Amino acid sequence: MDGSRAAEVIIIGGGLHGSSAALHLARAGVRALVIEKNYVGRHASGVNAGGVRTLSRHLAEVPLALASRELWYRIGELVDDDCGFEQHGQVRVAENEADAQTLRERLQIMTAHGYTHEQWISPEDLRALIPAIAPTVRGGLIAREDAAADPYRTTLAFRRKAASLGARFLEGVRVGSALPQAGQWRVETDAGVYTAPRILNCAGAWADRIAAQWGEPVPLQPISPMMLVTLRMDHFLDPVVLGTGRPLSFKQRANGTVLIGGGRRAWVDRDTEWTELDFRSLAEGARTVCDLFPHMRHAVVNRGWAGIEAAMPDEIPVIGRSSRHETAFHAFGFSAHGFELGPIVGRIMADLITTGKTELPIAPFRIERFSGA
Ligand SMILES: Cc1cc2nc3c(=O)[nH]c(=O)nc-3n(C[C@H](O)[C@H](O)[C@H](O)COP(=O)(O)OP(=O)(O)OC[C@H]3O[C@@H](n4cnc5c(N)ncnc54)[C@H](O)[C@@H]3O)c2cc1C
Repeated sequence: MDGSRAAEVIIIGGGLHGSSAALHLARAGVRALVIEKNYVGRHASGVNAGGVRTLSRHLAEVPLALASRELWYRIGELVDDDCGFEQHGQVRVAENEADAQTLRERLQIMTAHGYTHEQWISPEDLRALIPAIAPTVRGGLIAREDAAADPYRTTLAFRRKAASLGARFLEGVRVGSALPQAGQWRVETDAGVYTAPRILNCAGAWADRIAAQWGEPVPLQPISPMMLVTLRMDHFLDPVVLGTGRPLSFKQRANGTVLIGGGRRAWVDRDTEWTELDFRSLAEGARTVCDLFPHMRHAVVNRGWAGIEAAMPDEIPVIGRSSRHETAFHAFGFSAHGFELGPIVGRIMADLITTGKTELPIAPFRIERFSGA
């Protein structure tokens, strides 16, 4: 590896977003240096549910999510690995009339905005698609082109491809301070000082600490969504199933194991990088699973874990140029749904850094919305 302490761009954080930005920069001929305090994919990007979901997105995120999904369809061309990508759709199911009403209202909003990727699915069609689902389910909203992928494999594929095109990755190196000095960014780490004319903050659940150094305090909350995985079961499910009134994300992987998540949270201490599962909450989640899929009463849970993620109060990320420094950029705060956005946000950041603009609408994500926080 080139041991130079000078880079064209320094990226703080080797999650999917840092790795994707490094890849898209490398494709544009710009060699970035990614500095990661643990190892690439150690945090949210490597341990998430792998949902490639445009369904039920915040309206501001829909254009980005749809553009990202186009990149997912061609992920093999982008990173030379299919990333375990499988397109079986995602469906948000209505357990009762209140859920059905919520979903109908959502559909109206999407239709009013001209979006057609979310559609109503009747109870009969839903049962035809998923015979194992409880007969009481009242239909739902489906995005048939949605998908899922393997998160750790994906993050490593982005890293590998970026490195093959000239990006450098420093692992086990923590960024302390990152401050402007004489037209350069001076980045102090526990392995010495690195410099670059431009810098990108992709530090996930720790990104507010970098933003604060740049005079941009943000109300980021570290959260810790939990996951369970069962032993292998006979195949019974293709699409990802989401709850409406109760938190749930539920999918069977190709190897037969069933992945259960949906936003229930563990206790987290980001300084020690410690999480502790909340078993009471997991038990409530298991009840939702058994109500929707009665045969899951016989499932055996094999393992549980939690990842550390950055949540913003409005549940949409910070994407764009710093409000205080022309040569600094942010991409963080994905609020438990940033995996799907990884491919496109990397491209947006590379475009912003190399050309100063992007064709995608990122105004809702500017950091200035938290001015005065
Ligand atoms: C359990 C779980 C399930 C999820 N399911 C889904 C899903 O199904 N679909 C979906 O779209 N999203 C999902 N998400 C959200 C998704 O995983 C995240 O939004 C996304 O991975 C965030 O990527 P990132 O690169 O911003 O952050 P991260 O992957 O957290 O990467 C940030 C990196 O920055 C490093 N870092 C921080 N500070 C420093 C420093 N000072 N010096 C050096 N390095 C530093 C960290 O070590 C970390 O590796 C889920 C998240 C979790 C936790």
